[in-house]
Amino acid sequence: MAAETVFGKIVSGEIPVEIIAETERVIAFPDQSPQAPVHVLVIPKTTEYPDVAELAAGDPSLLAEMVDVAKQVAAQHGDGDFRLLFNNGSGAGQTVFHVHAHVLCGGLEERSLVGS
Ligand code: AMP
Repeated sequence: MAAETVFGKIVSGEIPVEIIAETERVIAFPDQSPQAPVHVLVIPKTTEYPDVAELAAGDPSLLAEMVDVAKQVAAQHGDGDFRLLFNNGSGAGQTVFHVHAHVLCGGLEERSLVGS
């Protein structure tokens, strides 16, 4: 079980966010510090997985659901193409240890790596 994080507080409603997309197991909301014209975070509602490696090992279908939500976000808020980025571990720039996908659309020519 991951320690409580800011994203756990978003899932519980303690910290309000604009919900961009939602399924039974996943929510998407804007990154507070956008690095592209569209920069949305997709997270599972469970606090069980701190990073994508743990999620892939523990519940691959939930990871696939996150990718599907990312695709929907890119179709609705961008041109359909998107970059999907997971920072895995503090050395890679991860700061919130509740697994999350960065969905980035537009302005990708800058090739920035979120969190680095
Ligand atoms: P990472 O560095 O991959 O762990 O990404 C964490 C991301 O969460 C950063 O891009 C932050 O801007 C974003 N973030 C942190 N707190 C919030 C919040 N309350 N609402 C939206 N985005 C947040």
